[in-house]
Amino acid sequence: MVHVLDVLSLCRVCGYDLGGGWNEKLEPEYEVCPCCGMESGTYDQWLATIVRYRANWLARGAPWLLPRLRPANFDLRKQMEAVLELDGLPPHPNRPDP
Ligand SMILES: [Zn+2]
Repeated sequence: MVHVLDVLSLCRVCGYDLGGGWNEKLEPEYEVCPCCGMESGTYDQWLATIVRYRANWLARGAPWLLPRLRPANFDLRKQMEAVLELDGLPPHPNRPDP
């Protein structure tokens, strides 16, 4: 099972590895995801906003914010595996859903 503390560098919307996002003290670093455009600390603090942002993004065809960073072998389903598993858990232990 994936634990939220193991994937703090992943975008919680699309699973892209931001290399940052949240630090070990669970403080947001306001990284903007080049894939889905989500900003850590803005849309990913609560599961409800993550799910809503993701649904809107997917409905628009999951466009990359910075298409030049899109890998040639990009596989959205594979990239999203860990975050979809996390959706069953509170997004951050000290931040309960509103
Ligand atoms: Zn993202």
